[in-house]
Amino acid sequence: MSVQPVEAGQCDTPRCDGRAETITPEGHVCANCAREIERAYREAERRDRAGREGRE
Ligand SMILES: [Zn+2]
Repeated sequence: MSVQPVEAGQCDTPRCDGRAETITPEGHVCANCAREIERAYREAERRDRAGREGRE
């Protein structure tokens, strides 16, 4: 039996087996998920701003 290296951790995204590499507001996730989360956040932020400015 070989000793496993200290695990960096697994991606926090459910059903993702990636290795956690990036810390995001959603948790410690792999690079792929980090990109997805960043995009989602930017999208939400844009929608939020557009909604606020568009009303009045
Ligand atoms: Zn992931």
